[in-house]
Amino acid sequence: MKVAIIGAGLAGLACAHELERLGIVPDLYEQNSFIGEAFNHSTAMLRIIDRPPHGDYMRYFKEKLYLDITPLAPVERMMHIAPTRKLMVTGKKLGYFFLRSNTRDSLKNQLCASLSKTRVFLNNLADLTTLKKKYDFVVVANGNNLYAKEYGLWQTWFNGYVRAAVVHGKFDTSRIDMWINQHYCKNGYAYLTPFSEKKASLILVVSDCIEKDINEYWNAFLYYEDLRYPIIEEFTQYHVSGFVYPKIVENIIFAGLAGGSIDPFLGFGQFNSLSMGVFAARTIAQGLDYHRQCKYITQKNLYLQEFRQGFNKLDNKGYDSLIASIGIPGVMTLLYRTSINWIPLGSSVIKKINRRQLRIG
Ligand SMILES: Cc1cc2nc3c(=O)[nH]c(=O)nc-3n(C[C@H](O)[C@H](O)[C@H](O)COP(=O)(O)OP(=O)(O)OC[C@H]3O[C@@H](n4cnc5c(N)ncnc54)[C@H](O)[C@@H]3O)c2cc1C
Repeated sequence: MKVAIIGAGLAGLACAHELERLGIVPDLYEQNSFIGEAFNHSTAMLRIIDRPPHGDYMRYFKEKLYLDITPLAPVERMMHIAPTRKLMVTGKKLGYFFLRSNTRDSLKNQLCASLSKTRVFLNNLADLTTLKKKYDFVVVANGNNLYAKEYGLWQTWFNGYVRAAVVHGKFDTSRIDMWINQHYCKNGYAYLTPFSEKKASLILVVSDCIEKDINEYWNAFLYYEDLRYPIIEEFTQYHVSGFVYPKIVENIIFAGLAGGSIDPFLGFGQFNSLSMGVFAARTIAQGLDYHRQCKYITQKNLYLQEFRQGFNKLDNKGYDSLIASIGIPGVMTLLYRTSINWIPLGSSVIKKINRRQLRIG
């Protein structure tokens, strides 16, 4: 069987790995001349969002997806920062940090190194119309929504701009800091994720923002939070998440961001993209139902979208109340120390805060 994959990203590489395991050697097309990222950053996978089985990402990747990947460090401390409230959550299995760069230890290069037979074509801007005629299946894993839009499958949930920097300082390698504040990110968020004790990623995501305004929000963020880290590198990128249905059309399978993997609340998508890449391969090689395999991801993102709609109506006081509610002992246990899906309950809590906000307003 002839299979082409567009994009050597998380979904594309995971798909190639699983196809090889199941006896199919795919052609993998990558527009860049390298595997990895154009910009260095450190990313997080957070259990509060993904709820991996047994609460353990690494076990899930190894035993269910057959992917052997190594994180930078575990997440053991999460600092939530609202305009006038802070909350620190600690725990052993809160998540993991991963390196995203073009070096050998980065997540994509780890995945690429695990491929043995896949034909990887670098510097190759693939065209879906051409490939779908030449191959039995094409997996679209291009990390954007171009083809999903072209085929009329895409519905936007959240969009805006990301401003990211690599900063110098003194960091706890197991701690993530997360900010919400209408003054500088509207309904978006900001976070700091370490690479090492001396280097971290500082990332600001502003909702419904145009590119030329992102600098202003970035400066406001640094000013409000009094962040004075020396900046080593920085970049700006468009950010979008959306719903894709159906995820298979003709002989084309949409995976990763192209298939709606990015969650509409925090814009995280690594867990989903890796999973969808593997599921796409199993659909091709074993005839499994792609939508059924993706059901957990689709459902999770639909719940998170409902949560986001409530979140979008909050003002800064609402953000403070939200952080205060997370701090209630039973709530904190439910969110961070169990595998129960909290998101439907979270939506009703947010609706209550919305109503209180309306009454006070
Ligand atoms: C700054 C930033 C921070 C992030 N932080 C987090 C985080 O903390 N946690 C988290 O879970 N997620 C995070 N994400 C999201 C996460 O990185 C994405 O979910 C994930 O990379 C998407 O995987 P993908 O396989 O769909 O696409 P990608 O990994 O982006 O790969 C797509 C690949 O396709 C290639 N390509 C595109 N078009 C073509 C073409 N026509 N022909 C050939 N090749 C093509 C691209 O060059 C690229 O290599 C972050 C994203 C950004 C930008």
